[in-house]
Amino acid sequence: MRIVLLGSPGAGKGTQAELLADRLGLIHISTGDILRENVEKGTELGLRVKKFMDKGKLVPDDLVVDIVAQRLKKEGKRGFVLDGFPRNLAQARALNEVLQKLDLRLDIVLYLALKEDEILKRLSARLFCPNCGANYNAISSPPEIPGRCDNCGDRLEKREDDQPQTIRRRLKVYEAETAPLIGYYKTSGLLKQVPAGGKVAEVQQQILSRLPRPVRAREGDCGG
Ligand code: AMP
Repeated sequence: MRIVLLGSPGAGKGTQAELLADRLGLIHISTGDILRENVEKGTELGLRVKKFMDKGKLVPDDLVVDIVAQRLKKEGKRGFVLDGFPRNLAQARALNEVLQKLDLRLDIVLYLALKEDEILKRLSARLFCPNCGANYNAISSPPEIPGRCDNCGDRLEKREDDQPQTIRRRLKVYEAETAPLIGYYKTSGLLKQVPAGGKVAEVQQQILSRLPRPVRAREGDCGG
């Protein structure tokens, strides 16, 4: 199964992608996670992208396309969930080319739809643990002790790009650059919309009910 998750920041793509990947044995490719890891480690890539990320802007296409292409070349045949990529039309076209070269194709693009007031509420409540990387949301998935990580007890923080001003910028970038992908994938017949306002488990069920079963059956049948 080869899946793209679309949706605004805060729609729950990361959480849902991780659950899906675990459940279906797919690789989870989150360009945001990969870029953040590089920033934390201070790699050359990290140093190049930090200024874009801190401002809530997209990092240059060639850098992210390269990250995704390399990962897909290595492991794409196992099936994948793309989370946070593609982020604009140029990236969507580049993804098509990469997949074509690998003789792979997308099965479905899931659009996690959420109203703007809910997006803002979620993003402002998002917290993470700088020590172990665990993610929380003060409203929808709070830690047991407020402000402390359940795993390691460290003090939770807001992501640099979840500060109010940067949130506004990221939502503008989403509307201008990423939202047009909804129409693009609708036209190609791959898009399925999922209401993303419910609890994590409910949204996951909604996603599972939209997956193309015949594809899974065909993949299972290929040996015999
Ligand atoms: P995310 O965790 O997906 O919200 O991504 C956090 C930040 O990483 C974004 O605001 C961008 O600066 C950068 N980023 C992640 N994915 C991409 C992408 N596909 N294209 C460009 N920038 C990206």
